[in-house]
Amino acid sequence: MANKAYKFRLYPTQEQEQFLVKTFGCVRFVYNKMLAERKETYEKFKDDKETLKMQKFPTPAKYKKEFAWLKEVDSLALANAQLNLQKAFKNFFSGRAEFPKFKKRKTRQSYTTNVVNGNIMLLDGYIKLPKLKCIKIKQHREIPSHHVIKSCTISRTKTGKYYVSILTEYEHQPVQKEVQAVVGLDFSMNGLFVDSEEGKTANYPRFYRQALGKLVKEQRILSRRKKGSNRWHKQRLKVAKLHERIANQRKDFLHKESHKLAKRYDCVVIEDLNMKGMSQALNFGKSVTDNAWDMFTTFLQYKLEEQGKKLIKIDKWFPSSKTCSCCGQVKESLSLSERTFRCDCGFVADRDWNASINIKREGLRLLV
Ligand SMILES: [Zn+2]
Repeated sequence: MANKAYKFRLYPTQEQEQFLVKTFGCVRFVYNKMLAERKETYEKFKDDKETLKMQKFPTPAKYKKEFAWLKEVDSLALANAQLNLQKAFKNFFSGRAEFPKFKKRKTRQSYTTNVVNGNIMLLDGYIKLPKLKCIKIKQHREIPSHHVIKSCTISRTKTGKYYVSILTEYEHQPVQKEVQAVVGLDFSMNGLFVDSEEGKTANYPRFYRQALGKLVKEQRILSRRKKGSNRWHKQRLKVAKLHERIANQRKDFLHKESHKLAKRYDCVVIEDLNMKGMSQALNFGKSVTDNAWDMFTTFLQYKLEEQGKKLIKIDKWFPSSKTCSCCGQVKESLSLSERTFRCDCGFVADRDWNASINIKREGLRLLV
């Protein structure tokens, strides 16, 4: 079985919008209530792990008695809030995440609901959701008939746009493809990557760079406005809209680039980089912290796996930049400002290209 999600824009009526906002609020309320309770339990028993484990997790049902209005919204949405919180705690206990935080109204609002007895259905231009009648949907692509809908996540962006992400499940056993075409990618600070085959950089489109420049400008204007004033609110919305547009452009670009690679190659080799650590340690700034690389490799992985192809991640300590891809000699040091790689053997190449060739070679070594 495999999963695939489809995201579409929703156009709720005013009445439906009110109901959605109410649902977001109820989900947030229940989540925060459960978290507060759970936090108390944690503080009480944190030194006694065994007893802590035995404590029951609070459920939404408990609050429904006290806060009757919770019954008016989709109960599956509340149940999912509980699951999400449980997952957040599990991640915390395993050391993968920080202690769960309270949800704020300002962040992206969403709720998830599941398919039970035909409560969710896609009709011509509309989607039927629990407790709601049909909401207008812009379905720009078909969901294949062998896909079964499992759940839907409804979200509202900061600028007030509504989306639904439909998670589907389908039977899929890709035949492992024989590896013939292989490419190594070296992460590039300005572009996205440099590939080993052509030494080309995957550059962000010009309109994307222009939008980034505009964002800086608009943010500067925002910082000069008096906080809380009318003009400040107006400017804040402008900045949020620009942010959204940029995020969409970036996502599109990452989809296109990963699609091209997954189509052309049977195996892609990359370095297993820790972007969070990297941006903090070296202060690379926005281009890294916006998570483009993580998103890109996630897309790449599922696009390759769908076709029985491979993504190989090599150790981040592998000296891809310092190794000469011609003679194999490893340099003792190579400063970040050295954009051209020069070896004693006479080999000269672009730094990132040299690295991508080494990455490919290391991937091939791991493959056999
Ligand atoms: Zn050399």
